[in-house]
Amino acid sequence: MGASEPVEAVIFDIGATLVTGPPIAPNKVIAALMEGVTAAEVASVIMTTPFESPGEVCDALAARFGAVGEDALVGICGLWERQSTAAHGIDGAAECVLALVERGLRIGLLSDIWSPYYHSVERALPEVVGAAHSIVLSCRTGARKPDKDNFLRVISELGVEPSRAVMVGDTYTHDILPAIELGMRTVWVLARPEREIESVLGVMNGMLPCPTATVGSIREVLGTVTGATTTCHPERSEGSALN
Ligand SMILES: [Mg+2]
Repeated sequence: MGASEPVEAVIFDIGATLVTGPPIAPNKVIAALMEGVTAAEVASVIMTTPFESPGEVCDALAARFGAVGEDALVGICGLWERQSTAAHGIDGAAECVLALVERGLRIGLLSDIWSPYYHSVERALPEVVGAAHSIVLSCRTGARKPDKDNFLRVISELGVEPSRAVMVGDTYTHDILPAIELGMRTVWVLARPEREIESVLGVMNGMLPCPTATVGSIREVLGTVTGATTTCHPERSEGSALN
């Protein structure tokens, strides 16, 4: 992958890239419990605030949207409990990260995530969390993808040039496009292709810049990053000259 500039760091999205979780996002569950508040509005609060307890979630929601009813409070407590154990490591994810560490690469985690679900990631993949040299989470920084703030922060914490970093993620608009725009190399893991149809069409029709590589699962990432396997577009795999 880009032989002229060796890869020094690999930055991973978390949800659907390293772990799987419940099919319904927590912001949608909470929005369904509250009157007149959209899932996007809930996300703008819960994904950007550090919480220690479900009570703090309710306080933050009440401060923004008005009083949280008793039923919603009970529902949010139950959701917190479920989310705290919901993440499961994807087969091959820990092996991939640890093999990259063994090769001397620096590892970043870059995720839009809320506090209880991150707790379950720490339980599901403790070796990955322990091996990471930089962990940048929306619930700690207040910024969310596709804003470039957290991308710049993780690159800075890893101490590498963007051109020597690879972003690995499953969502084109949030993980891949901002990374390309910053001059990073990218591996698009099409873990949930049905959610990515518009982006797949955009890339195939030349309307969106092509990732450095596109793979079907996290198990293919190690070979792609280390150059052990060819990519879908080997003639385009020289880093920034992608569009
Ligand atoms: Mg993801």
